[in-house]
Amino acid sequence: MSEHARHAHHHGQSEGHSHGHAPGGDIEASLARAAATCLARGAQLTELRRQVLRLILESAQPVGAYALLDRLRGERRGAAPPTVYRALDFLIEQGLIHKIERLNAFVGCAEEPGHGHTHAHPHPHQFLICGRCGSTAEVCDDAVAGAVAAAAARLGFQVHRTTVEVEGICAQCVPGKSTPG
Ligand SMILES: [Zn+2]
Ligand SMILES: [Zn+2]
Repeated sequence: MSEHARHAHHHGQSEGHSHGHAPGGDIEASLARAAATCLARGAQLTELRRQVLRLILESAQPVGAYALLDRLRGERRGAAPPTVYRALDFLIEQGLIHKIERLNAFVGCAEEPGHGHTHAHPHPHQFLICGRCGSTAEVCDDAVAGAVAAAAARLGFQVHRTTVEVEGICAQCVPGKSTPG
C-alpha cells in the first residue's frame, strides 16, 4: 500500500449553515435535543408532541395540519384535530417549529436549540419559499427584524411577532441552472 502524498485541500469553507431538512439519524438527534430543551424549560415533550415533531422533521416540505393528522393516524388511530392543534401550538411556543402562514403549513426550526437563541418564545425569522419545488429555507437575520422593529417604532406600533415570508425560486430551481435544452 503505497502512501502517496495525500494532502487535504482545505478551502476555508465556512461551515455552511445548510438549512435543509436533515434526514435519518439527525432527526433522532433533533428530537433528543428538543426533549432536552423542553425539559430545561420545565415543559414536557410528550410522546404525542414528539410524534408530531418527528413527522414535521421527516417531511422535506412544509406540512399542513391535516396531512399531519393523516400521518399521525398511522400511529394513533384515535388522533383528532384538536389533539394535533394542541401539539402544534406547544411546538410553536417552544420555538421547535414554525408556521408558514402563506402555506398554512409547518416546518421544523432550522436553528439549533442552545445555539444562540435559547428562548422559548418564537424568535424572529424569515422564510424563503420556493414556488417551484415548495421547499423553504429559514433565515434568522436580526437585521431584518431590527429594521421592521425600527419602522414600526416610528409609527408607535408595538411589534409582537415578525415573520417575513418571501416567495421566489430557490437556487436549485433557478432557470438556466438546469440542463441545456
Ligand atoms: Zn426557527
Ligand atoms: Zn425550488
